[in-house]
Amino acid sequence: MSTTLVVAIDGPSGSGKSSVSKAVAARLHLAYLDTGAMYRAATWWCVSQGVRLDDTAAVAAAVAGFPLVMGVDPADPTVHVGGVDVHEAIRSTEITAVVSAIATNLEVRAELGRLQREIIAASQEPRSFSQGRGIVAEGRDITTVIAPDADVRVLLTASEAARLRRRAKDVHGTDDAAAVEATRDQVLRRDADDSTVVQFQVAADGVVTIDSSHLDFDETVEAVLEVVETEVGPRQ
Ligand code: C5P
Repeated sequence: MSTTLVVAIDGPSGSGKSSVSKAVAARLHLAYLDTGAMYRAATWWCVSQGVRLDDTAAVAAAVAGFPLVMGVDPADPTVHVGGVDVHEAIRSTEITAVVSAIATNLEVRAELGRLQREIIAASQEPRSFSQGRGIVAEGRDITTVIAPDADVRVLLTASEAARLRRRAKDVHGTDDAAAVEATRDQVLRRDADDSTVVQFQVAADGVVTIDSSHLDFDETVEAVLEVVETEVGPRQ
């Protein structure tokens, strides 16, 4: 058994992949990478620089080498751009509404993909946050494009209704009919737009699907930990 562990988790919006991945990373003493936050940070950067998001060349130029620093502690996953803490700002509805425009830019994907591979490789170094134990990385193309050779690959999914309810609760604090309706664009339209460049709705070969529609948060974390144990053996 290797001593480093790379767990890759992808899935659609509202599947719970961020919170579940953070909890799995904490339980296994691994680093944590939220690749969605990188796309959000790139979007925030372009908006703050006044770059038009429909100008694909200008967006690609702005994102090449932009001053992004990702913190990989699952208990405090920070995001800084040019020294500014953007953790909150990148989750605003304004950024959420336009992030797909950046995420469907293939040059941006190449640049952020390169950074993601660097962070995943760094997590296997003894001097890193996880002291070389590895990382849980999550995001729509992690199991297929970015880390197809990860030790464990999981597609975390849930029914459309469950995903809408969860996102409504996250964003509006309630899952009544009006909140669910208000969430529809962020969940379904965004996934439809993102699906034009990455496939994250169906598991690729060798990727284990976990359907969390009828699981609560703790049960979903346990389900992922079980997959890890099945694939690579017990971890302390
Ligand atoms: O997961 P989260 O909602 O924070 O992701 C924000 C956006 O980033 C997604 O809607 C998608 O457009 C993009 N994304 C991506 N590939 C990833 C992670 C996120 O295209 N690996």
